[in-house]
Amino acid sequence: MKIAIFGAGVAGLSAAIELVDRGHTVELYEKRKVLGGKVSVWKDSDGDSIESGLHIVFGGYDQLQQYLKKVGAEDNYLWKEHSLIYAEPDGKQSFFKKANLPSPWAEVVGGMQADFLTMWDKLSLIKGLYPALAGNEEYFRSQDHMTYSEWHRLRGASEHSLEKLWRAIALAMNFIEPNVISARPMITIFKYFGTDYAATKFAFFRKNPGDSMIEPMRQYIQSKGGKIFIDAKLNRFELNSDETVNCAVLQDGHKIEADAYISALPVHNIKNIVPNEWLDHSYFRNLHEFIGSPVANCQLWFDRKITATDNLMFSQGTTFATFADVSITCPDDFQKGMGSASGGSVMSLVLAPAHQLMDLPNEVITKLVMKDIHDRFPLSRDAKLLKSTMVKIPQSVYKAVPDVDKFRPDQISPVKNFFLAGDYTYQRYLASMEGAALSGRQVAEKIHSRLGA
Ligand SMILES: Cc1cc2nc3c(=O)[nH]c(=O)nc-3n(C[C@H](O)[C@H](O)[C@H](O)COP(=O)(O)OP(=O)(O)OC[C@H]3O[C@@H](n4cnc5c(N)ncnc54)[C@H](O)[C@@H]3O)c2cc1C
Repeated sequence: MKIAIFGAGVAGLSAAIELVDRGHTVELYEKRKVLGGKVSVWKDSDGDSIESGLHIVFGGYDQLQQYLKKVGAEDNYLWKEHSLIYAEPDGKQSFFKKANLPSPWAEVVGGMQADFLTMWDKLSLIKGLYPALAGNEEYFRSQDHMTYSEWHRLRGASEHSLEKLWRAIALAMNFIEPNVISARPMITIFKYFGTDYAATKFAFFRKNPGDSMIEPMRQYIQSKGGKIFIDAKLNRFELNSDETVNCAVLQDGHKIEADAYISALPVHNIKNIVPNEWLDHSYFRNLHEFIGSPVANCQLWFDRKITATDNLMFSQGTTFATFADVSITCPDDFQKGMGSASGGSVMSLVLAPAHQLMDLPNEVITKLVMKDIHDRFPLSRDAKLLKSTMVKIPQSVYKAVPDVDKFRPDQISPVKNFFLAGDYTYQRYLASMEGAALSGRQVAEKIHSRLGA
């Protein structure tokens, strides 16, 4: 079959990998000049990597890791020490280190040693969060009607642990506060965190997600005969009388005919392209239930190292929620001879919640970020800021607010030759690289089950 895929983020690329492997003729159309979507990376005039967002691979990302292996990129990421590190004022750090024991003892013993939680926090968490640890998918789904803060309080877990531990995790996962995010994804993560030692390990790409993952994916697809077109924006579909797709029309007027069409566009883009005729189906109307989380990624280049931490860091009460010094965590990108970092720190910071930042000028945001950097990293007070970049994404991953999960669409649509992929479509993960990769595999399986190919 000839299959046209629109959108070359992780979902579109994963679908293409699956489909070229099954011997199909695959054409992938991407509106931008760079592949990777929210994981895309490009170079500035100094040759330094600018990332759409700091990206971490989790131990539990089985599908993504399978693809990385398939495309020859299994050595392109590095596991870090298994701990949550919180940057505190004046250069202090606090830790939640997993003990070297089988789960859940690794977490219980590690949690009891965490220095930023009080004894009451720890006891209230063990007692309060037990239903999440013991719960199954059905239980998690049944809790989707309330926010995580509501669930946490109902279980009698302490306010201080909500603020110190869970707020950072909600902001890292979905860029929204615990009183906005649904309980469901949070308690699902808690279950992973508490029962699967390996699932919550972090890895960083050796270079950056573009060079270490997206480029090997591109090479693999093209080596198997897949065609990739950039600067190729999907504009609309023309329909047959039975409302199936007759052809897809790009912005430049070019028409594409295929046996099956896959949208791997973000939900806020595809919902505006869906033909009016299809809106009789709640499947397509439901796409309007999703709202994207605003987020920004700020990168700061310093003339010297301001930290020695080789891992992801969290902090609270600051403009940034999660961050890392990528000159340390991603050793093949910013070291001597690679880019212009010249040995200083390159802080990559995810700014969340970001709704109040979106309309501010970049210089103003950078000033706010620098104030917090000086507070958390005293060495930065004497360092020179060489340059900074800011990537704002007004609608990034969909907000996992209460009662939205039930609207996530299956990859099979009511239109026979049209399919959806993307991190927001139904798979067992929240919007993430793993979720996007799973949606790519699932869409290929569903094309096979519907069209027998
Ligand atoms: C700041 C930030 C940090 C993140 N950190 C992590 C992390 O640490 N770990 C993790 O697992 N996940 C992380 N994520 C989430 C992860 O990046 C996404 O869930 C995932 O990459 C989404 O992939 P996707 O293919 O579904 O969508 P996208 O990446 O959005 O890809 C969609 C593609 O469609 C293209 N497109 C749009 N409209 C058209 C059109 N009309 N025609 C053709 N093409 C079009 C876009 O340009 C894009 O390339 C992060 C996200 C952000 C923003």
